[in-house]
Amino acid sequence: MADSQDPIVGIDLGTTNSVVAIVIDGKAQVLEEAGEKLLPSVVGINPQGQLVTGVAARNQLAAFPDHTIASIKRKMGTMDPVSLGDQKFTPPEISAMILRRLRDRASRAIGQQVNRAVITVPAFFDENQRQATREAAALAGLTAERIINEPTAATLVYHAGSHDRKQIAVYDFGGGTFDVSIVRMEAGVIEVLSSRGDVHLGGDDLDQVLVNHIADKFQTEHGVNLRESSHSRFRLLQACEAAKCRLSTEETVQITEEFITEKAGQPLHLTTTITRKEFEMMIEPFVERTIQSLDEALREARVTIHQLDDLVLVGGSTRIPLVEERLREEFQREPSRAVDPDLAVALGAAVQAAMIEGRSVGPVLVDVTGHTLGIEACEAMTYAGPQLVFSPIIHRNTPLPARYEQAYSTMYEDQEEVEIHVLQGERPEVHRNQSIGKFRLELKDASGDRSKIVVRFDLTLDGVLKVTATQPATGVSHVLTINNALSQFQADERVRAESRLGAMFNASDEFFDEGEHPTSIQWEADELALEPTATSVDSETAALRFPEAVALLKKAESLKSSVDGEDAEDLESICENLINAMTSDDAAAVAGLSAELDDLLFYVR
Ligand code: AMP
Repeated sequence: MADSQDPIVGIDLGTTNSVVAIVIDGKAQVLEEAGEKLLPSVVGINPQGQLVTGVAARNQLAAFPDHTIASIKRKMGTMDPVSLGDQKFTPPEISAMILRRLRDRASRAIGQQVNRAVITVPAFFDENQRQATREAAALAGLTAERIINEPTAATLVYHAGSHDRKQIAVYDFGGGTFDVSIVRMEAGVIEVLSSRGDVHLGGDDLDQVLVNHIADKFQTEHGVNLRESSHSRFRLLQACEAAKCRLSTEETVQITEEFITEKAGQPLHLTTTITRKEFEMMIEPFVERTIQSLDEALREARVTIHQLDDLVLVGGSTRIPLVEERLREEFQREPSRAVDPDLAVALGAAVQAAMIEGRSVGPVLVDVTGHTLGIEACEAMTYAGPQLVFSPIIHRNTPLPARYEQAYSTMYEDQEEVEIHVLQGERPEVHRNQSIGKFRLELKDASGDRSKIVVRFDLTLDGVLKVTATQPATGVSHVLTINNALSQFQADERVRAESRLGAMFNASDEFFDEGEHPTSIQWEADELALEPTATSVDSETAALRFPEAVALLKKAESLKSSVDGEDAEDLESICENLINAMTSDDAAAVAGLSAELDDLLFYVR
């Protein structure tokens, strides 16, 4: 039941899919129908002569193209008639059919007649296109209380209720269109500063690239062009879209379509494999075009990427790891993608609707990972040995449940086993993250394609992390289940907490371990307390002020026995100087010496 007598819903009237949402009890939620959240923005006349919308219409698109209309949003603002069977309709009339279905869906879901809506449109829609959307709403029996920009809605999802001045980029990569907007939020008012994009660039293009790749391969192998028959073409397209989506979480995907065509009366089957790497190479030019648009939008808004407070991901195609990776690289931070990118705009419209009703709403809250999870991997071989780094598999802020996998290869041809060391944290250096589990996978043979190891992470809502390492060529596999991957401290916090407590224990007489006599490099409170200098602070205060330095000193202590020669001398002198800098409360020297010690520890470990 809605919170008001005449509730206002939020509607994302999309090119590919549409969604309706509402705020109930302060919580924005999507209104479903038979478990479906998205309504394909497709309408049709079925063979019985009845109007159909959504999935039913989409399903008849290939078989009855003359009786089906998709992507009507592209025609909004024009009065060009479109044919549906033997009748002609205006674009607002077709949109009204979709809106009417959404209105009914909402009325049924909340058990109340819905008559009012906030409807979203792209920022680049002109007044004609907005007016056409209002008319479509009226034809569906809805009053469009407000037409708002899609990037404004997406911003509200993450930042509703905030009164700070914020500059946000909304990157929306959907099925048929791409656009990026720079918005400014000030005193609760959201203004679109610039908007760039390409109305003919979307997930559909990526499907097409895959279709062409596979059809070319099939043609070389069997001499049949799958694109020539509408039946084969449609099946291939569906298989490719499904494969594209699976490649967002899997490294390799097999595409199998039996009896996809025939040759000389004999059926031909399609069986092929595609890897994420291959797919990424094919779509890279498209992704780069979107990055260029982001740069242009920033330039037009006179905002640099470093001045952005957030980068919000919207649209199903932002689930593609390459897209997210490139944006992370540009933004140098984690983009916001906690809310399902297909639903963010509708949820934001619902937030706006609640605000019109005078209800105060905060940002939409969802379950996400608070930290990045990954494994230790070798980035390069150097003269000093393997250069080990933290290789993320599930990034921070990923909505839960999450499943991601990553492929690695063994370091040597004759390697007999690999160690999977599971880490959480945000630092590239292995030792700066928290170790949360380890296991070994014995290999049958690591030569040729057998050198490939796939590591999959499955993280559930309640924080159970299942790590599976597999050697695909031999089927050898091992699973480790970590039960409290979410409840643990974030790595940095843990190190800080450990060192803070450790230093307090050390500083206290009660916890002092007689057996542990101070050595020159050990962070030892009592030793420091014995040698006060004029400007010194007491050891406990020093430890509390420089927890990271304390953690480094502890690390040095644990590694000291395995270091000799010049390295050992360096280690000792840096530690001594660091302890002195800490007790002299010289923050700059502590920072410099900590960095030196960190480098040395990384090198000697
Ligand atoms: P939208 O217009 O926002 O509904 O986005 C739809 C587009 O997102 C379609 O091209 C889908 O194929 C694509 N899409 C949805 N889920 C995924 C996924 N997991 N990986 C890649 N693309 C996806």
